Amino acid sequence: STVFLNNEYIPANEAKISPMDRGFLFGEGIYEVIPCYQGQFVGLQPHLKRLFDGLKALEISSPLTTEEWGDLCKKLVSLNEGDNQGIYIQVTRGSAPNRHHAFPKDTVPTIFAFTFEIPAVPMPDKQSVTAYKVSSEQDLRWKRCQIKSTALLGNVLHFQHGVREGNKETILFNQHNELTEASSSNVFIVKDKVIVTPPLDNQILPGVTRHILLNVLREHSDFIIEERVITHQEVLDADEVWLTSSTKEVAPVIKIGEHWVASGQVGDIWLKAQTLFSQYKYLY
Ligand code: PMP
Repeated sequence: STVFLNNEYIPANEAKISPMDRGFLFGEGIYEVIPCYQGQFVGLQPHLKRLFDGLKALEISSPLTTEEWGDLCKKLVSLNEGDNQGIYIQVTRGSAPNRHHAFPKDTVPTIFAFTFEIPAVPMPDKQSVTAYKVSSEQDLRWKRCQIKSTALLGNVLHFQHGVREGNKETILFNQHNELTEASSSNVFIVKDKVIVTPPLDNQILPGVTRHILLNVLREHSDFIIEERVITHQEVLDADEVWLTSSTKEVAPVIKIGEHWVASGQVGDIWLKAQTLFSQYKYLY
């Protein structure tokens, strides 16, 4: 496959970075994953906006303009095989001769991007959809979860604890027993036809799928939508629980630990939400 590294499109097996890169030494970088189906990107603009927000948080000035980032994504997709590809972009502060915590002067940010094949999104269907069984844990990550940092150790450990229990995701609650997000997804609940998700703050990543879904639901459905604090008890009492992420879109959760969500069946409102998402996802 062809990857992009420091202004060059090169074969993946020729891509090399310095072990002194601060992405490697400190996890000092940010990343994005952007889906592209048949040449059409989902949420390219919000993904690039979040990339810029992340660079600003790290005080790295963007090596490329929004337009150049968009062109890079398009070119990389065209240089690689596959009808449907995810584009991974990572920017780190770059490398310096010495390992010092302080930002070194005059570093050149390292840009690395590659694509990977993703499955086509199937027609939303209650019977055939992958229904998630998830673990739950206290959220033990840091207090800047709005930054899409490459330093994902906290997320990886939470995810792996789920894997150990036979699950593919772990949902997280803060020390006040309030829902934050999952280790690689945002979380929504539905109760009495009201759709609720935690508000944007430093405890969660501002998911692009979350953003698109909220907009689609507000513009194309009559559901009441709330962004507010959700307690652990509300999650257990919910009629439906969903995960959202760029690769999952909207995914139903049927079991949390030993607790079945409502009847343990995929919900009707999930079907409507994913159907609307599929219909309008390219417009944001
Ligand atoms: N939260 C976390 C911690 C994530 O890593 C991700 C991305 N996998 C999400 C939420 C969902 O974000 P997006 O919809 O932009 O993919």
